[in-house]
Amino acid sequence: VDPAYRVMQHLSEEIGIRFGGTEGEHRAAEWLAREFSTIGFPTELQRYGFIGWRSLRAPSVTVSSPSVRKFSAAPIIYSAATPPDGVSGVVRYHGKKELIAGLYELDCYVLLADSHPLAHLVVGPTGDAISLLNPRPIIQLPMIVIGTEDHAFLQSALGDGAEVRATAIIETELVPDAYALNVIASYRGNTNTSQRVVVIAHYDTQLTTPGCYDNASGVGSMVDLAIRVKTARLPINVDFVAVASEEIGMHGSTYLVQDLKERGELRNVAACICIDQVSAGDGVSVWAGPEDFRERVLFSVRESGLGSMAPVKVDDPMPGCDMWPFWVEGIPGCLLMWWRPPPYYHRPEDTLEKADMSKVRAATDAAFHLVKGLARSPVDAGHAAV
Ligand SMILES: [Zn+2]
Repeated sequence: VDPAYRVMQHLSEEIGIRFGGTEGEHRAAEWLAREFSTIGFPTELQRYGFIGWRSLRAPSVTVSSPSVRKFSAAPIIYSAATPPDGVSGVVRYHGKKELIAGLYELDCYVLLADSHPLAHLVVGPTGDAISLLNPRPIIQLPMIVIGTEDHAFLQSALGDGAEVRATAIIETELVPDAYALNVIASYRGNTNTSQRVVVIAHYDTQLTTPGCYDNASGVGSMVDLAIRVKTARLPINVDFVAVASEEIGMHGSTYLVQDLKERGELRNVAACICIDQVSAGDGVSVWAGPEDFRERVLFSVRESGLGSMAPVKVDDPMPGCDMWPFWVEGIPGCLLMWWRPPPYYHRPEDTLEKADMSKVRAATDAAFHLVKGLARSPVDAGHAAV
């Protein structure tokens, strides 16, 4: 069986939802650690504690005037709670909510009483509401994602000068003793240097999805890549890291980088390759930098054949993916991703039978081409300001 497929099947079907800090996430980490060990990699479970969050019940937004309407609603992760019977007020357009700079800059409405904000209603990227992360969880305000049709309803009602009144309910709580596990499998093919490449893919999911595309596919691709690197005995050192809790704020990769930095190990990281969402989508998206590393990545994307399967969109690294914490520390890096997200993105329908394994393999081919290139001609050491 295709190793990527086996991983995708186990994560999305045997385990299912793997939301940050929950039992599903912990079980996935332990299974992945066993997988890497079985393949023959020294493997470590890196545990860290964090302030977690849970949703106690699906949120709701109900408009009472000018007409009655129930919105599609999903939580923003780390949203504060309303009282159990909710908050009621008038709805006004608020502005743009920047959840991920450059990627998710979303229209936002505010529910007001006596000019105090009671809740924010954030318009989701497509269709019905899906849960999305909150980049600033320390600010505690009830925040609910609404659907794009609800946005059209509000635009039209407010455009007509109507007073829109609504009630929003969201019940959540913080989990002060949450923990999560990064799975670190190390391959050491070059004992002459302590330089290494970090390949990274997040295995957690959003709240209500088995997360096959996002991101069992990236983890499957990474495991396949690890096997290929080992089988080819490439003269390079690579840490393959399945990271936790990307969906709730990149906690796993942030902790990984902080720990490497504190132990003086970050200077040995030559580059970071992130694989996220590679089993669907009609375009290839590459975020990479700096310039010379981006050229290498694009060369591999072309030479491996990935680049001839679909249009390739190239961007500078952005937040919202697990290479970002490396990038801000000066480490060259790239994200390989198939994009735009399919309609089942972050939804319960993100299941295995929708996965296009030829897309997963093409992403792995590109990553393998890139790692082979890095083995032949390493990135200049001392690139980073650490
Ligand atoms: Zn993802």
